[in-house]
Amino acid sequence: MNIELVKYPDTFLRTKSEEVKFPLDDKTKRLIKWMIKSMYSNYGIGLAAVQVGYHSRIFVMDCTRAGKSPQTFINPTVTKKSEETLTDFEGCLSAPGKRGEVKRHLRITLNYKDEEGEEHTKTFYNMEARCIQHELDHLEGKLCIDYGKTTDSGGEEDLLKAMVESSSRTKSDD
Ligand SMILES: [Zn+2]
Repeated sequence: MNIELVKYPDTFLRTKSEEVKFPLDDKTKRLIKWMIKSMYSNYGIGLAAVQVGYHSRIFVMDCTRAGKSPQTFINPTVTKKSEETLTDFEGCLSAPGKRGEVKRHLRITLNYKDEEGEEHTKTFYNMEARCIQHELDHLEGKLCIDYGKTTDSGGEEDLLKAMVESSSRTKSDD
């Protein structure tokens, strides 16, 4: 299954996504399944709806190496963030070959709904926290390459360092 992603510099990526209404309609449920498939088939660890052509406040994430635990976040809002930050390079499935240096909070608490409309408040750390902040940016029409320092990814070694959305899953442990 090959799903075409919306890519930089497409202005579609620059529009702010809209709140999702509950209960989810069939179209939105299909969209979420499609996003998860698309995330895995592109070896990503996160994907926002805008990247597959929908301005809905939804993103999916799976930072595990096994790639079998997708999480869905709908209408997410940040309720708490750590003062500690970490600056690192990120890659984006919508900006292949590019990396942006971004300062992110190390820890972030998110309020969101799942597909059933159930509300959750959960704290995420490190890689998950970075991925979530990256995806939240997508919902606002922002990209990781907007922050300033940007480089083209060089060799394979560089690509492996580009963490977000380009995953270490390409080199599998099993
Ligand atoms: Zn991205």
